[in-house]
Amino acid sequence: MLGRTHAATGWCAGLALAPLLGAHTLAQAVVVATVTAGSALIPDLDHPVSRASRLIAPVTGLLSTAVRWTSGAVYQLTKGPADEDVAGVHRHLTHTVVFAALLGWWTTWWVSVTGPWAAVTALAIAVLLAVDALGDWLVLVVIGVALLWVGRGDPLAELAGITEWLGIAIGVGCVVHCLGDALTLSGCPFLWPIPIAGETWYELRPPRLLRFRTGGGFELWVVWPLCVAGGVLLLPGAWPLVVGLTGG
Ligand SMILES: [Zn+2]
Repeated sequence: MLGRTHAATGWCAGLALAPLLGAHTLAQAVVVATVTAGSALIPDLDHPVSRASRLIAPVTGLLSTAVRWTSGAVYQLTKGPADEDVAGVHRHLTHTVVFAALLGWWTTWWVSVTGPWAAVTALAIAVLLAVDALGDWLVLVVIGVALLWVGRGDPLAELAGITEWLGIAIGVGCVVHCLGDALTLSGCPFLWPIPIAGETWYELRPPRLLRFRTGGGFELWVVWPLCVAGGVLLLPGAWPLVVGLTGG
């Protein structure tokens, strides 16, 4: 799946998740969606030319090298008798539920011991990733939300609210990425290390007819428009507004 589609599916998932995290206002829901959209690009740090790996070239490039080395090493250590004889780099360690849960847990721990600046740093990374994939319009949205919080006079209280769900949103973004890749031809081993048919890195995917090619016509002309529509209609208040305008 292309980076922008991953980010868009992450955005939609964030809007669906927001009420469960207590983020009921439009501004709060947009922040959750921005975090899940940005986080939905993180698993592709295991690819040298992905958006995440090229984001801040020297830093994220080095991080990508470390991630790929670790993924390959873990694959060689844990592969089952029926697993393929591959390097185990792209679409392996970072494309698992274990990775998503660990990254979410680590973020929660890091923010709790380091304080508000850790939350601001994590938010800034998520915003940079989301803007890179979805476009500059998101910068204006984020600035609008920030001004709204400052205008209300208590941005630290809003930040404290964000730290409560930040790790969950980052983990969910990574899981959404895995689900997206599972629908493409290559599949995704996201249940590692549970052994299935002799493989600990078993690529879960639907029947071939239901899979699509990354960057192919189905992704561009069906999945992407659905994401755009969902990304608008899932905004708090958007659906009742549409129903009202159409006289429903
Ligand atoms: Zn991927």
